[in-house]
Amino acid sequence: MPTLFCDNISFAYATGRGELRGITLRCEPGSYTLFVGPSGAGKSTLFRLLTRLEEPDSGVIYFQDRPLAEYPPTLLRRKVLLLPQSPTLFPGSVRETLLLPWGFARNNGKTPPDDAQLTAWMERLRLGDVPLKEHAVNLSVGQQQRLCLIRCLLLEPAALLMDEPTSALDAESRDIVLGIAAEMQANNGTTILQIDHSGYVPSFPHIRYALDNGTLERTYG
Ligand code: ADP
Repeated sequence: MPTLFCDNISFAYATGRGELRGITLRCEPGSYTLFVGPSGAGKSTLFRLLTRLEEPDSGVIYFQDRPLAEYPPTLLRRKVLLLPQSPTLFPGSVRETLLLPWGFARNNGKTPPDDAQLTAWMERLRLGDVPLKEHAVNLSVGQQQRLCLIRCLLLEPAALLMDEPTSALDAESRDIVLGIAAEMQANNGTTILQIDHSGYVPSFPHIRYALDNGTLERTYG
């Protein structure tokens, strides 16, 4: 059963922009898929469709064999997580930032991670010298993006959609983020979808699609 399956979907914004035509895409559990293509081609739009921030004009998107429309968006976005291009942080400490999703009703019944777990994640993402009580907005953009990644990973998503995770990052941060993503894919079977501008070529098996003129072409893997 694929994690995500787009069956012949088409979409355009009301302005006519962001047109996607007859997109069929299958992302199996534990696969790593890169999306390349010119700016404005609709890559982010595809990720918005996969998280029900937009609805296709035609065709159906499935998550684990059920149409997305059957999932309440809040439940879906806990399992199919979008890591946006720019970090989105509210005022608050690092700890509050990481635990933000645990305050929502959809996570009721699950135990939030404790400080020891948060610290372990911070160290893995080389943020070990940042105290949990630090104001998150005081961190550099690269650090904030890594914080957002930890916040995503704590939820143990089935699929992680990374929208140009490297654009705001310095080289060290980029390697850390991509390394962790690869580890999640390999060890936890997380399905990773990544928009890439940097020419990044993973050293492990992956699939590559080019999105251009509203159509998707598989170019590698
Ligand atoms: P990419 O991620 O490939 O750079 P996007 O998916 O961000 O491309 O955008 C595709 C096109 O849709 C662009 O022309 C963009 O200006 C337009 N677009 C993006 N978001 C919206 C929106 N919310 N409303 C209308 N047009 C949009």
